[in-house]
Amino acid sequence: MSPSPKDAISFEGYSRQILFLGIGESGQRRIASESAVIVGCGAIGGATASLLARAGVGRLRVIDRDFVEPSNLQRQSLFDESHARDFLPKAVAARQTLCAINSGITIEGVVADLTPENADDLLGGFALVLDGTDNFETRLLINDYAVKNNRPWIYAAAVGSYGVTLTVRPGLTACLACFVEGQPSGAGIEETCDTVGVLGPVVQLVSSLESVEALKLLAGREDALCGRLISSDVWSGRFQSLEIARNPGCRACARREFSYLEGELQPHVTMCGRDSVQIHERSRRLDLQALGARLRSTAESVRHNEFLLRFRVPPYEITVFADGRAILKGSQDPAVARSLYARYIGA
Ligand SMILES: [Zn+2]
Repeated sequence: MSPSPKDAISFEGYSRQILFLGIGESGQRRIASESAVIVGCGAIGGATASLLARAGVGRLRVIDRDFVEPSNLQRQSLFDESHARDFLPKAVAARQTLCAINSGITIEGVVADLTPENADDLLGGFALVLDGTDNFETRLLINDYAVKNNRPWIYAAAVGSYGVTLTVRPGLTACLACFVEGQPSGAGIEETCDTVGVLGPVVQLVSSLESVEALKLLAGREDALCGRLISSDVWSGRFQSLEIARNPGCRACARREFSYLEGELQPHVTMCGRDSVQIHERSRRLDLQALGARLRSTAESVRHNEFLLRFRVPPYEITVFADGRAILKGSQDPAVARSLYARYIGA
């Protein structure tokens, strides 16, 4: 079938990518007909979303639980000062930017925390899952989902000046649990960006490595996949690639025990940055306007938009989302979090 005039116009934008022999016109057609879901659209997830939107991936979904803050802008390239000023959820701000980058593809922004309960709904139907998260609980949940459903996914992480990526193809390669579970410690990245910081350039590097692996998978060029864990340190200039063997006793890909997906390990209150916790609630819809009106007599600086409501009860700051989740800043104590949630938002 010859391309329609509309195809010809929409393909013109990708001419430099089509000229690249590894992709070509048939690869580009496949990329345009494929889909990917990015879990977390902060630094790495946002940069990956931008590269894949520009590359013409037909359908992209970005999922994020958080909102834009001024301290994000140093490395989170989809956001600007206006997004932070309006305290927009990252998924909403990301969708705005991505739609402005490429109006010819389908882009969805979902404000949610990926959990065992919603993993099927949020990840189902996508050819590829991409890691833009900042924690191992969520990565192992993605890994469980991907292994169980035989879906490829790409692990990507950065902290300080160091980053790693690994493409997981269930049944064919090691999975993340092969690599991080059953080892003393020190496998994977345990420090967080909230304790040791992170440089923008390593984010862009790791995101580039994740995105090119994604393009190979989406273009049908599995033969070109790197097949190794790549680790990079942009400060020291040291780059390494390591063969990761499958673990024949692996909980996930050998024994098929999906404990993260079954929710056994998912706590109700989770750490979320240096001085904050997230309070998960079984999905409930909150009327943010009514809650805001109620809080104005007891809390300070009550502000809300259609996605979230933020207020202060010194020394704490609480942000509550329409699905009932809340992020408490100013404490890491789960008991304090639960008590403030019950008092101000309601059980
Ligand atoms: Zn495994």
